[in-house]
Amino acid sequence: MPGRIQNKVALITGAGSGIGLESSLLFASEGAHVLLVDLNLPAAEKAEQLIRERFPNVQAKSTKADVGKEEDVKNAVDLAVSTFGRLDVMFNNAGIMHPADDNALNTEEKIWDLTMQINLKGVWWGCKYAILAMRNNPTDEAKGLHTGGSIINTASFVALLGAATPQLAYTASKGAVLAMTRELAMVHAREGIRLNSICPGPLKTPLLMDFLDTAEKRDRRMVHLPMGRFGEAVEVAKGALFLASDESSYVTGTDFKVDGGLSSCYVTPI
Ligand code: NAD
Repeated sequence: MPGRIQNKVALITGAGSGIGLESSLLFASEGAHVLLVDLNLPAAEKAEQLIRERFPNVQAKSTKADVGKEEDVKNAVDLAVSTFGRLDVMFNNAGIMHPADDNALNTEEKIWDLTMQINLKGVWWGCKYAILAMRNNPTDEAKGLHTGGSIINTASFVALLGAATPQLAYTASKGAVLAMTRELAMVHAREGIRLNSICPGPLKTPLLMDFLDTAEKRDRRMVHLPMGRFGEAVEVAKGALFLASDESSYVTGTDFKVDGGLSSCYVTPI
């Protein structure tokens, strides 16, 4: 049985942990060749090794890049194309939530700028170089591969909902990811390049759990979660797989929520 993204080439940023790691494994299990990109090279290499052990029929390669540097993003896209011949799926997923990110009064400009550099400019550059690469994709009817592709940008539920536990720069960066992705989806709709945002709810990954380091902080959020639990990274990876695959061929410009109902909730069940 061919996989759901058989023979496609995917580049995933933040591939060493959380959503990126689970997506790398899931995409490989569904037949994609994967370039694993992370600032933390040993983590990306570990993920590459897991793919080699579990899914020997696909190719995987890892590389170090800081998505907050345009040259690094360009080089990573170039590497995907030179290694695998094309780029079908770009998952701009890497992001940071800085512990010193706070409200309008307390957030320092350097924290704001760092957050925007990685969470917003990194996604912009990822889109830019992916679009250029996807335009050049050769058509291979036998393998079901065509010009164009799917770009998935990780935003967040905080792009849709206000929280009285502020991380202002993070929230602003994720709102901008949503707006930017929608506009790019319109600009490139007739080129066969689809762009969608994915909005995860709060997850049990290091990004959030390192921050929610006391039961009190976790409980403050838990009461607002309709399903009574934090999400798992693999649950977001499954949403990303749908957006990466041709199953979502008529889906572009959407804010795809994988948030356990959080953004639809007024009162949670007891
Ligand atoms: P994570 O911390 O588990 O993994 C993030 C990965 O990104 C790490 O491997 C890290 O090394 C890498 N990374 C960080 N900065 C980088 C950079 N400048 N260049 C390249 N790689 C870099 O986080 P996660 O929870 O899997 O988060 C992934 C994405 O999901 C982020 O964009 C995050 O904002 C978003 N998100 C997370 C949650 C949550 O609750 N965890 C909720 C909504 C959205």
